[in-house]
Amino acid sequence: MASKPNLSLRALSKRYGRAAAIDNVTLDVAPGEFLSLLGPSGSGKTSILMAIAGFVQPDAGDILLDGVRINDLPPEKRSFGVVFQGYALFPHMSVRANVGYPLSVRKVARPEIEQKVKRALDLVQLGALSERLPRQLSGGQQQRVALARALVFEPALVLLDEPLSALDKKLRAELQIELKALHSRLGTTFIFVTHDQEEAMAMSDRIVILRDGHIEQVGTAWELYQRPVNRFVAEFLGRANFIEGTVEASNGVAFTLKTNENLTAIAATDASPQLGERITLALRPERIRFVNGANLNPDWNRVSGSIISGAFTGLQHSYVVDTPIGLLTVVIPSFGHGAPQTIGSIATVEWPPEAAIQITG
Ligand code: ADP
Ligand code: MG
Repeated sequence: MASKPNLSLRALSKRYGRAAAIDNVTLDVAPGEFLSLLGPSGSGKTSILMAIAGFVQPDAGDILLDGVRINDLPPEKRSFGVVFQGYALFPHMSVRANVGYPLSVRKVARPEIEQKVKRALDLVQLGALSERLPRQLSGGQQQRVALARALVFEPALVLLDEPLSALDKKLRAELQIELKALHSRLGTTFIFVTHDQEEAMAMSDRIVILRDGHIEQVGTAWELYQRPVNRFVAEFLGRANFIEGTVEASNGVAFTLKTNENLTAIAATDASPQLGERITLALRPERIRFVNGANLNPDWNRVSGSIISGAFTGLQHSYVVDTPIGLLTVVIPSFGHGAPQTIGSIATVEWPPEAAIQITG
């Protein structure tokens, strides 16, 4: 295994016409990290990965590998393992030959190729299918061959562009676990592109949230979920309710927000809002619960409204309650929280002040 690299992007930009595919992206990737690039379609995920791989030439900024600028290094000299969308297997070549290809082009000796291909195929649990052609494999198996081909030459950095997105839900979940286990075993740096927030949250050490080519926020799944900096991140990673109001009183840690319900809220940000300032709070649906008359929490926020819809998805019930401060989505675990609510009934919901956190715009 090659030593683990430090990859850095410095003010990287790439335009197509007037639109920026990559917009001033600065990012440090830690050695051995599993880092995901997450964002909606067109947010620049593939462009960033292609620039790192060397297939896209940035207009501005630097790509540094262990501090050395590699902008002008051709892709094959970078020697990163890549699994790209539409970067298909060779259809006329067996699984064994496909996986051995990166070694053949590197003029590795035959016995060593055989040994490394065997190891790579065992790694993705395809040892038994090495003589098959790609079309004799399922989609998931083909994807694993592509992975073995990307790993076989023991690259120090592996770039994966939505490698699981074409697979059905169950297979995708299985391969997510395999890929994660593979990453732990190899200790190689993985940069993983996905538009699937749950996939990113389940797999990554850190997630980079992208929008229109620029970074909105970087952090662990937990950090991004608990402290989204803005509405886009809060909505992209999970579900969120937003409450708007004017700051009426503040003591440095807590402030009272004047909504049309006169709510009290405590800000979980470093920002200290000014009196009279108009701000937005984000509130996760699972932090809200239905008030059980016998168990009032005097310090909690409380509003009433009509339950206008409900959905049961196994793990949970989710309801929408029409309150004076707007529609609130409320998610309740399906077991241990009393009988399901009745659609159309009036209910009171409550949440602790610290659950509502201040975000920008
Ligand atoms: P993602 O992978 O997040 O869906 P991309 O990196 O593929 O996003 O694209 C980012 C933006 O750059 C999009 O608006 C896309 O249309 C544009 N883009 C990407 N590649 C090209 C290209 N070769 N020519 C013109 N526009 C491109
Ligand atoms: Mg893409």
